[in-house]
Amino acid sequence: MGVLRIAIVGYGTAGQAAAVLLSRDGHDVRVFERVPRPGPVGAGFLLQPSGLQALWRMGLLAPVLAHGARVDRLFGDTPCGRAVMDMRYAGLESRLYGVGLQRGTLFSILDAAWPDRGRALNAGRDIVEVDADRGLLRDADGEVHGPFDLVVVADGAASRLRGGVAVPRVDRPYPWGALWCLLPAGTWPWVSELRQRYVAARRMVGLLPVGARPGDPTRRLSFFWSLRTDAFANWESAGLDAWLDELHGLWPEAGEVFAALVDPGQLARARYRDTIVQRWHRGRVVLAGDAAHSMSPQLGQGVNMALMDAQALADALRDAGPLDAALAAYQRERRAHVWIYQLWSRWLTPLFQSERDAIAKLRDVTFLPLGRVPGGRGQMLRVLAGTQRGLFGRLGLEEAFVEALARPVDPGSGAPVREWTSAHGEPSRP
Ligand SMILES: Cc1cc2nc3c(=O)[nH]c(=O)nc-3n(C[C@H](O)[C@H](O)[C@H](O)COP(=O)(O)OP(=O)(O)OC[C@H]3O[C@@H](n4cnc5c(N)ncnc54)[C@H](O)[C@@H]3O)c2cc1C
Repeated sequence: MGVLRIAIVGYGTAGQAAAVLLSRDGHDVRVFERVPRPGPVGAGFLLQPSGLQALWRMGLLAPVLAHGARVDRLFGDTPCGRAVMDMRYAGLESRLYGVGLQRGTLFSILDAAWPDRGRALNAGRDIVEVDADRGLLRDADGEVHGPFDLVVVADGAASRLRGGVAVPRVDRPYPWGALWCLLPAGTWPWVSELRQRYVAARRMVGLLPVGARPGDPTRRLSFFWSLRTDAFANWESAGLDAWLDELHGLWPEAGEVFAALVDPGQLARARYRDTIVQRWHRGRVVLAGDAAHSMSPQLGQGVNMALMDAQALADALRDAGPLDAALAAYQRERRAHVWIYQLWSRWLTPLFQSERDAIAKLRDVTFLPLGRVPGGRGQMLRVLAGTQRGLFGRLGLEEAFVEALARPVDPGSGAPVREWTSAHGEPSRP
């Protein structure tokens, strides 16, 4: 396919990655972003091997590893010390791990990788309508942009534009969301583990190491507190005292980290949706990222999926003939991967975020043993790593990528980093 004039709506992870890849392929890319000063929203996230491979293919693995925190293990328990979840990437492949990253870090890495940003990013443009037949966009000021050969709609979970492609088969908000923010890691000992603590499914608190940001050497943790979205306002008006007492009571070992929580304004509110769209493209418009497949972040896959969407779209436009065939190939490729994650996250979310005490009890007795039985363990670890494809398939990780992950190179000197964990923090004390 020749050079296309492409509009991307949304400069989140999906939009950023698509801008980098499609520009590199020589297309004429314009991005339209609602926010006047684009930047990251939220605290931090866990990159899985699937998403890390997408970044490796983009040539961006080294800066991600340089700033992120290596995560080897996901561990969750109850306040009385009963282990509920214990998963290690090494159970799948000894060289694999996840990387905790601050949102701002990935934002700046992708931003720096798109040299056309100054010329081609149209910030402060709230796109309210897309004409799929003519490839036109209309913004909130009534201005019309285009025509474009292709419009990539990457406007996130609460997408206003996805209806212009197809009416979703499922589109509902989850009753539970989260409060989250970044906190200094201080002397927190679990530097390579995502740690969570649960009280039935009514309370869930998490701490994920997310490394440092370019220009700010302070290593941080992404803090997460599960809360019903209809309780956000009450939580804020009640003040922090009672909540902090509860938090310290639940997790006394994390008291030093929680000492940095002093103001409700520190905590961003996150809401999630479950959206299934059967058709990801119509005419000249195609969906990517959460706009195509929003789900609860229980499995920590959304950023990874957004990166893989961008990669698959660029690959399809390069390899798959006319536009309609390329978009169909992209949809086929990505839906084959995404659907099982949507299914799992729909089933798993009430186990961790709901008022269903009986289900939570069942979780407490079955989750850990299930992860130890042959078959169950591999499946759970592949779902975690982002490499499950359908019920029985696997998404291949390239040997060269796995080696690059195992033997990272310092982006400044080009020298191999021999001891990854000790170069980036003290080793974890299990
Ligand atoms: C609490 C929480 C924890 C999470 N943890 C993880 C994790 O550990 N790992 C993981 O992989 N994922 C995680 N996720 C999911 C992940 O954050 C999302 O899946 C991912 O950010 C989606 O990227 P996106 O580019 O599709 O959408 P977004 O990041 O939402 O970007 C959409 C962009 O579009 C812009 N926009 C919206 N409407 C318009 C419009 N009309 N016109 C122009 N611009 C518009 C927005 O301003 C925004 O910049 C988590 C999510 C939450 C809420």
